[in-house]
Amino acid sequence: KNICLPEGLIKGTTMDFEQVEAESRKISKVLNKLVKTDFFRKIKVDLRKECVFWKNEDFCYQKGCMVEELEQSSIPQKWYSKKSEISYLNPMFQQPSRTKKQEFSFRDFSIVNDESEDGVWLDLVENPEKFTGYAGPAANQIWLTIYQHNCFGVSPFIQDTASGWGDQQTGTDKSKSPFVYPPTYKEGLGTFLENLAEEQRGLTLIKNVPQELRLFYSTVSGLHASTSTHICYDHFDQKLNKWSPNLGCFIARIGSFPERLHNIYHNYVLVLRAIQKMSPYLKAYDYSIGDETKDKETKKLVNQLLRTISRVEQPFIEDCLFRSKHTNHLLEDFKTNFRNISRIMDCTGCEKCRLWGKTQVLGLGTSLKVLFSYSDKELNNPDLVDIKRNEIVALVATFNQFSQSLRNIEHFRNMYQDFLNHY
Ligand code: FAD
Repeated sequence: KNICLPEGLIKGTTMDFEQVEAESRKISKVLNKLVKTDFFRKIKVDLRKECVFWKNEDFCYQKGCMVEELEQSSIPQKWYSKKSEISYLNPMFQQPSRTKKQEFSFRDFSIVNDESEDGVWLDLVENPEKFTGYAGPAANQIWLTIYQHNCFGVSPFIQDTASGWGDQQTGTDKSKSPFVYPPTYKEGLGTFLENLAEEQRGLTLIKNVPQELRLFYSTVSGLHASTSTHICYDHFDQKLNKWSPNLGCFIARIGSFPERLHNIYHNYVLVLRAIQKMSPYLKAYDYSIGDETKDKETKKLVNQLLRTISRVEQPFIEDCLFRSKHTNHLLEDFKTNFRNISRIMDCTGCEKCRLWGKTQVLGLGTSLKVLFSYSDKELNNPDLVDIKRNEIVALVATFNQFSQSLRNIEHFRNMYQDFLNHY
């Protein structure tokens, strides 16, 4: 059995693994182009927000952890129309006592106001999510805090104190190599059965949990697994001194945990459904940046994407969740904890990881907001919808990240098959 080849229905959805891969192959043709347009590649993110949970001292200063800020001249004038943004550009306008805007409204699942507050403009295409070397206790702590304190006790790994391969790495201590991985795939495979047993033990614990709380855990775990997939795919091999996909890394972190693999597909379907549901709003949205040719192209690609997505039968039935008298009260707790995860992202000690952590939590938060805070009727009337530019950009970027993870998984599956053929 190929451990990288999942089978069956994706829990809580109407699609199986093969269907998701087939649809994503079609969708990615246009999605790949859309994320490279000026409108969708530029995002404003507050990377200097304070970590409100603990004193954050463990920063990664390696080149791979840094991001390159965009020149002011490359930002469309239109996006600076708001007063708060003028003050960011010109220190003359800055008022130290400026009252902070509310970080979210009752409909939001994440902190959404980064675009109008202090922040830097970044190009997502120029700063892709990949291996940075950020690892060790500080990085582990963030994920474990999320699982242990924000997932309603639904994490099968709550007792695990970061026993992954990554424990051998450290992004900040140069005396230890940040790039140590077991040298052969065989060792990675050796951990497979142990991991599986550990996961099965954990999963029996979460069987009787409401679907809504399992959704929460799957969303977080899927984001984590997708990040790990990117790290293993765009991986720096110190011995060969080159970037290449690392199958051992993939097997040890994702491939040998069926549930983690499953959760990446789950997140793809979740975001797919959110984009499908908000299609009328996205269709009516103004993507112009003041360049007629570019604006036409962006609009064309958005319409193509929405058309392709509209052909997929409803893949996720959001109306079944938070509806019964036993579960409707869970919605507010769900929002509170998800917003908390948004804040935990500010504790990430690596700029590039923080950029992608914040962007994807915003993208997932926007998906959840579309699914659970708005009705179809409301989404048909733009005046009733409060979804900002950065939420739309984050949503599409996040969809593309999961889409890329699916491509990477296919690549690893082929590598694994080659490996089996040779041993
Ligand atoms: P970690 O990935 O830190 O995980 C900790 C523990 O969580 C594991 O031991 C395991 O028990 C459990 N676990 C792991 N995966 C899952 C899952 N999918 N579901 C449930 N439980 C799980 N590094 C980069 O190189 N590039 C990046 O872009 C990057 N972005 C990051 C963004 C954020 C927000 C954070 C917090 C970290 C980021 N990192 C990034 C670091 C990276 O995610 C790992 O923390 C690091 O590589 C160390 O990995 P690890 O194997 O020790 O375990």
